[in-house]
Amino acid sequence: MSEVHRFLFDGMPVRGAIVRLTDAWQEVLRRRASDREKGDFPAPLQDLLGEMSAAAVLMQSNIKFNGALVLQIAGDGPVKLAVVEVQNDLGLRATATVQGDIAPQESLSQMVNQHGTGRCAITLDPSDRLPGQQPYQGVVPLMDADGKFDDLSRILQHYMRQSEQLDTTLVLAANNEVAAGLLIQRLPGQGQGNLAGQGAGDEAAGEEDYQRLAILASSLKREELLALDVNTVLHRLFWQEPLLRFAPDQSDRRPHFHCTCSRERVAKMLLGLGEAEVQSVLAEQGQVDVGCDFCSARYVFDRVDVGALFQTGQIQSRSDSPLH
Ligand SMILES: [Zn+2]
Repeated sequence: MSEVHRFLFDGMPVRGAIVRLTDAWQEVLRRRASDREKGDFPAPLQDLLGEMSAAAVLMQSNIKFNGALVLQIAGDGPVKLAVVEVQNDLGLRATATVQGDIAPQESLSQMVNQHGTGRCAITLDPSDRLPGQQPYQGVVPLMDADGKFDDLSRILQHYMRQSEQLDTTLVLAANNEVAAGLLIQRLPGQGQGNLAGQGAGDEAAGEEDYQRLAILASSLKREELLALDVNTVLHRLFWQEPLLRFAPDQSDRRPHFHCTCSRERVAKMLLGLGEAEVQSVLAEQGQVDVGCDFCSARYVFDRVDVGALFQTGQIQSRSDSPLH
């Protein structure tokens, strides 16, 4: 079962979280495989998308925010776009757009950053967003002055430092069964530059604590993260540290597969395209068949559906197709 656990270190300005996606991640892969046209993700892309899924769940579970967290990489290699979306209740979906071949041992740079123009973006899209209101988005390149990043954890650590001013250590790993991640983050300094706040000594001690915990976290090997259960990982890494676990009372916030597509949304999209455009598809193909990239659901609109849609401006309920 997929799970995420959050924790703190007593008396230290450091928080952490560990995630292990099993059923939720396998469902992402199963949905993709069920689309015969696209088929399975090539292995290196599958692993990247799994790591992105684990990271996005870690980040979503770490913030107080009512809306979707979208982690995406816009690539300049065969992977044009890789995207993971995690809702506030940790419902997640993921997909990628590929043009061209991906070799079995292809590196991250080869997939998404061949020419150094790949980008990583994190978007926070509030569920109560007003019309015209832009969601919050931060973007970083997939390289720094020292060169291209060759794994996702480095990209995201860079993002956290650049975009959020948060020192973060991430260990991420995925295969075709498990997507897992460990996050250690230094809490923003309390009362910095504030006489009533922490003194310089506390600041230095906090830095020391963070560095020590970050080194411990980084010692975790990918194979261990994939194979071991959460309790074993935390015990192995931090048995000498005052780890405080949050009670696992978040059964309503368990990571799970969830796609937000629906017939209504597709209908809205068709209305946005305009009647002439949709009628021309209808004339050419006999029906309008729209597939969801994330979950491979298909939404079919025949002549009657399309006529009714543009006449009334809304979707007619159909007894022969399940409305989501
Ligand atoms: Zn869908």
